[in-house]
Amino acid sequence: MGRRSLHTAKLAVAAFAAAAMMVPLAACGGDDHPETADDGKPIVYITVRRNVTDVHVEDMPFSQELEAACDCHIQWEEITDNAWGQQKSAKMAAGDIPDVGLSLFDLNDVAQYPDYFLDLSEYMDDLPNVQAFFEAQPTAEKMVNDDGHYYMLPSDRGKGYRVSATHMFINKTWLDNLGLEMPTTWDELEQVLIAFRDQDPNGNGQADEIPMNIRDLSFGLWSPLVLLNSTGITTNFMGSSASTQGYYVEDGEVKSYYEADEMKDVVAYYNKLMSEGLIPKDTFTRDDSQYASQTQNDGKTALTGVSIGWSSANEYGDLADQYVTLPPLKQTADMPDEDVKWDYSMDGTEFAYVLSVNPEAVNLDAVMKVINAMYGEKLSVEGYFGSIPDYVSDDGDSQYTISDDAYVNGRSDTAVIALQDRFAGWIPDSVTIVNDTNADEVTASDEACKEALGHVDPTGDVIPIWARPSQEDNETLANNKTAIDNFALNKLATFIQDGGVEEGWDTYIEQLTAESLGLQQNIDIWQKYYEEAISQ
Ligand code: MG
Repeated sequence: MGRRSLHTAKLAVAAFAAAAMMVPLAACGGDDHPETADDGKPIVYITVRRNVTDVHVEDMPFSQELEAACDCHIQWEEITDNAWGQQKSAKMAAGDIPDVGLSLFDLNDVAQYPDYFLDLSEYMDDLPNVQAFFEAQPTAEKMVNDDGHYYMLPSDRGKGYRVSATHMFINKTWLDNLGLEMPTTWDELEQVLIAFRDQDPNGNGQADEIPMNIRDLSFGLWSPLVLLNSTGITTNFMGSSASTQGYYVEDGEVKSYYEADEMKDVVAYYNKLMSEGLIPKDTFTRDDSQYASQTQNDGKTALTGVSIGWSSANEYGDLADQYVTLPPLKQTADMPDEDVKWDYSMDGTEFAYVLSVNPEAVNLDAVMKVINAMYGEKLSVEGYFGSIPDYVSDDGDSQYTISDDAYVNGRSDTAVIALQDRFAGWIPDSVTIVNDTNADEVTASDEACKEALGHVDPTGDVIPIWARPSQEDNETLANNKTAIDNFALNKLATFIQDGGVEEGWDTYIEQLTAESLGLQQNIDIWQKYYEEAISQ
């Protein structure tokens, strides 16, 4: 208790100090940050985080169209992911906040430094495009709604990304080579993996096959723990959902994955596979780079039979044609079909927290014009996919076709020539995007999961992503999480690697639920926010 209070007190002091340091900046507007240009038009300062900066935003026709819409000048600052990661804390502590930030902050930052974030709910009359967005996509509105205030705006990259972020893949060429059926249960998968191990499915005369490859245990993207969905429990391993913290809901009751009997089943199953040589024994200790060399290899000979990732193209590169999505498996053959679920991460895949405004921004009228323009259809498409007509053609009737020229540096997305997933905007469901390679690939990979995803009750099986604890509760959750994960993730990895789950489970549960770890405290916190969220 004492430790937590002290930590909270320190944060409060830091926030106070930062707020005090903001005062001189408010009066700024000096030579390096003029409020108006020589032509008398207002200047809006926007900082955007990007994953590549080969082509600058200011050179994109998209930027000139935005300037025309706001009758203002925009001064862009671009910051790479790495640089932002290094500078963010210092900049926030110093109050060095841009007028408009794109993909810089999240709601934890808002909770920690509330003074840096303008309440946009007071400007909605100036933002009809954002209003229309919120009416069309209530989930996006709920994500940012903080007791009726909006301190951030979300983005919506369109229905092409309304997909689970995680898929399980199997080498269909190998199945065909060995005359095997697609497995539908855990037992059938095990038999297929044994055949992959023993029957040289890649046909090179060597026993070089890795029947199944998995990443480290986590509640994040592409975790092997998505197999929980076979047991009837739903995961949402994306973004900052309660699921990524380790919690789910069943019959209105919040529970921990760590404590579930179904987790024991998943762990026992993986241990069986590993002990039979079907998953590399050094999975949890090897260098991460080995994973890609085993899935993508030389682009000619496949080495991996089954793995879990985003899209088959992303996971297997030049070998992608050999792989298909493995439809979500039943734990046992006698389970009813509707009990099989899949990773329900589509909200976090489609929507993102993206735009923030500094309350000290001088030209707020111009800022609102920029924002409203960004959330219009055409500029949203240009912001994400590339300027029209250079990279995208406007085919009429809300159809847009991306030119192959938009895909540079070997990328299957448009991050070089557009803001891509760092954009602020709304691509409505009425828009059709042709030749969006990344969406087409992941949508194809998602097809086989649609039926299982249809079994998920979005608010009964999943803690919605708009369930958001307060700053104080977040502190408690995070402190407890560190202790819980340190103990439980290691223990589960050991069970998978070395066995002992049957004999060791009760002791593990006893230690896991010791009051000192705070698991029950975290469950109680999420219970409160879950109930609030579903009544919203
Ligand atoms: Mg071989």
